[in-house]
Amino acid sequence: LIQVQNLGKKFGSMEVLKDITVDIYKGDVVCVIGPSGSGKSTFLRCLNRLEETTSGHILFEGTDITDKKTDIDRHRQKMGMVFQQFNLFPHMTILKNLTLAPVKLQGRSEEEAKNQAMALLDKVGLADRCNAYPNQLSGGQKQRIAIVRALCMNPDVMLFDEPTSALDPEMVGEVLNVMRDLANEKMTMVVVTHEMGFAREVATRVMFMDGGYFLEENEPKEFFEHPENERLKGFLGKVL
Ligand code: ATP
Ligand code: MG
Repeated sequence: LIQVQNLGKKFGSMEVLKDITVDIYKGDVVCVIGPSGSGKSTFLRCLNRLEETTSGHILFEGTDITDKKTDIDRHRQKMGMVFQQFNLFPHMTILKNLTLAPVKLQGRSEEEAKNQAMALLDKVGLADRCNAYPNQLSGGQKQRIAIVRALCMNPDVMLFDEPTSALDPEMVGEVLNVMRDLANEKMTMVVVTHEMGFAREVATRVMFMDGGYFLEENEPKEFFEHPENERLKGFLGKVL
């Protein structure tokens, strides 16, 4: 689904990503872990070109999205993104937040967009809050809404950048549960996370980023039980 070929990214003279090659397949749940500043967010942002790449290619569904001629907006609609901060429009109701992009960008009818939004809200247990405003919701509720907002565009892949890091601990579980359900429905997901339990349980592959490289990648059991790279061993020693 996504082929990353020799991806490099520099900010000025600082090389943040160094020659990354990785394939993400349909149905993969890839969890990316690694220390702060290692380039995880930059990697994710390169995948939908929120960040311009310096070298290499990214093919999404066969199209080179690093090619300047590619209509990135069209492809971005197929990539849902969820950030630490929820970025909901404060002056709009939840329902309006959810239907805005499908109606404006995808030309779908208000009616149809609403029906889909309500069905998804129901799935995450928030249908009764559809007429509330974002500031009337808890952090965990807002993040579930942000996930639903991305899903309303019918994406082929969901990108998550530490979606639970800004939440109070008691709200982390409700968001991870929504993500777990998504994975069970075979959504393709790339998740940057510090939630090792989630990675262990839900990921199909876990990748360790450090210093701009993926130093190790494996299925979760092997990854956590038999890490090989010394830096990964050190990292796991600190976080587990
Ligand atoms: P964290 O776990 O703290 O979120 P991260 O692994 O996501 O870290 P990145 O945000 O990708 O790390 O940052 C990698 C490096 O690139 C850092 O040294 C950061 O300071 C630098 N960086 C990120 N964005 C920019 C930018 N827009 N301009 C300059 N430097 C940047
Ligand atoms: Mg980050």
